[in-house]
Amino acid sequence: MSGPVTNGPMTSGPKTSVPMSGGPAAGRLPTSEPLLRVTDLKKYFSVKGGLLSREVGRVHAVDGVSFEVKRGETLGLVGESGCGKSTTARCVLRLLEPSAGEVMFDGQDVLGLGGNDLRAMRRNMQIVFQDPFASLNPRMTVGAILGEAFTIHQLGSSSSDREQRVANLLVKVGLKAEHMRRYPHEFSGGQRQRIVIARALAVEPKFIVCDEPVSALDVSIQAQVINLLEDLQAELNLTYLFVAHDLSVVEHISDRVAVMYLGRIVELASASDLYRHPLHPYTQALLSAVPVPDPRVKRKRIRLQGDVPSPMNPPKGCHFHTRCPIAEARCREVAPELRQAGNGHQVACHLA
Ligand code: SF4
Repeated sequence: MSGPVTNGPMTSGPKTSVPMSGGPAAGRLPTSEPLLRVTDLKKYFSVKGGLLSREVGRVHAVDGVSFEVKRGETLGLVGESGCGKSTTARCVLRLLEPSAGEVMFDGQDVLGLGGNDLRAMRRNMQIVFQDPFASLNPRMTVGAILGEAFTIHQLGSSSSDREQRVANLLVKVGLKAEHMRRYPHEFSGGQRQRIVIARALAVEPKFIVCDEPVSALDVSIQAQVINLLEDLQAELNLTYLFVAHDLSVVEHISDRVAVMYLGRIVELASASDLYRHPLHPYTQALLSAVPVPDPRVKRKRIRLQGDVPSPMNPPKGCHFHTRCPIAEARCREVAPELRQAGNGHQVACHLA
């Protein structure tokens, strides 16, 4: 089959830079009431070895993470690859079973749910994965992919009703109704991610985990997909947990940002506060590597020494002490708590 389906200027055309719209979705205000509350979440993976396949160690992928996401808010969750951000998101949705902790969603204890209750909860919590190429069944038409969600959750009174819902969804994400008869390989990467977003929206969720949703896409297409997510949030009052390693993308879409390092949150603040006044040495180092568009603004690059330690054997005390340029003796012994630093800004560092 030939190249991607053409559907107008939103998803095709030359790969030039497309400006993102102005910050977190205009026209909606996060409430102070949390939709999601995660408390002391832990996820350890067993490492087996030897002839008898005995447990020889444990990967501390998520090591005591707590945060809230308010209704209508976007919380960015950032950090380097392997820091535990995607594992945290999957535990929240129970795509992975946490080792310990509590997840409260809309007043319900997610980890205590089973059977039909869990299925009903899942309808409200959807995920958009990183790779739109891998997350769509190549043998199914787009109509069948989207219609499947309606069938699973028994939505739509008849096949014509479901077809109409599929058509509406496609239009909502910037595609055309007639695209329902095409197969995933006939679309570009950005268009496929729109289909993945449409599938997440099919069951009318309250909350969507966006797990690196644009990192597999061309830069110009990234901006279009981010803008689409923002428009949908404003229109449908959605709440997002936005997982990414790209700090510039997270700044744009997030109301607040949590920074993770080796299984723990080290800093959490409003996006503007975090980017203007980072308090944690790790956040400061990450931000120093983000290009500043204004050539008059000079930012000194902080280069961290060494590699991220193994999550199988994380350092005692502050997990970051092996790379921290200002570490002192107590950092090697005592793990800093995530504490309030004023104005909702939280930081886990003895010296911040
Ligand atoms: Fe650095 Fe110590 Fe702060 Fe950890 S607690 S970030 S090692 S200064």
